[in-house]
Amino acid sequence: MSTAVLLDLVEVVGRLPPGLAGPVTVRSPEDVRLVETWCARHGHDLVERRPDAVIVRRKGLADPLAGLPAGHRPGWRLWLYTNYDCNLACDYCCVRSSPQTARRALGLDRIRRLMDEAPAAGVGEVFLTGGEPFLLPDIADIVGACVAALPTTLLTNGMLFRGRRLDALRSLPREGLALQISIDSPTPGEHDRHRGAGTWRRAVEGVRVALAEGFRVRVAATVGARDPAGEEAFHAWLGELGIPRHDRVIRRIARRGAAEEGVAVTEETLIPEVTVSADGVYWHPVAADDEDTLVTREVFPLARAIEQVRKRFVEHRSRQDAAASVFPCA
Ligand code: SF4
Repeated sequence: MSTAVLLDLVEVVGRLPPGLAGPVTVRSPEDVRLVETWCARHGHDLVERRPDAVIVRRKGLADPLAGLPAGHRPGWRLWLYTNYDCNLACDYCCVRSSPQTARRALGLDRIRRLMDEAPAAGVGEVFLTGGEPFLLPDIADIVGACVAALPTTLLTNGMLFRGRRLDALRSLPREGLALQISIDSPTPGEHDRHRGAGTWRRAVEGVRVALAEGFRVRVAATVGARDPAGEEAFHAWLGELGIPRHDRVIRRIARRGAAEEGVAVTEETLIPEVTVSADGVYWHPVAADDEDTLVTREVFPLARAIEQVRKRFVEHRSRQDAAASVFPCA
């Protein structure tokens, strides 16, 4: 019934916000052809064909960012994988870092260029991670380039603050920089079980050194399962260590990289946080060693790379909205 499908089509598309998709019931191949012709004429997209329905996306750009806190809008946070090698080999490392992992350094030149472009591309905050960034001989220059452009957080396992690396730490700016050090438990047990014997003690020592040097220190814990009572005890211990509540992050293990257990994370379930490494631009730092979340190998211009991530986010949202319309009970 051609008239029926056209009436449905106009009604569905009329109700959709720009850029979002919805289902239109079809009863015959002729209905599908009519929808195709109508969409082509009016500039909408027929994004999927199912046996009894087609999914039509209304023309125009959706605002998939609506409702997201400003600090979590894709493109606001920029993650840079300075390198992939590490002095540790944690059994849940999401990017498979270890002393044997190839360095794959992003390099000071590329980082300087990224910082030249980042503010104009809408980036508001930079996170440096790895691997272990303090393995790099030019880590102080890298941090300096980032802090000169934007507020910066440097992630580290906190275990290398000795000799020339302690000198490098001391040379870093205090303004505009936070150090984020990984400690997984208030006692050595859990931390050392995943990261290696003796690592907890040295990480705690690293936190103390960084605090004594006048740095803002955040502590990030990676835990296997939610344990509210355990978390309260952890918070109490972190308070005694001198870490304010707003500088503590407790998150679950992600099943990526070396991790055999943990929360499954995919492009569909993660709000993107643009992540640049020597290998290209990834969807999110927690999956920056996996082809399925590689957005592009072209890092420059940064604004275009960010736009590609946003575009994919719009597509995921559209598909999810379409699926929600078809299967509202799911
Ligand atoms: S989790 Fe962090 S400290 Fe552990 S191996 Fe990976 S990069 Fe290194």
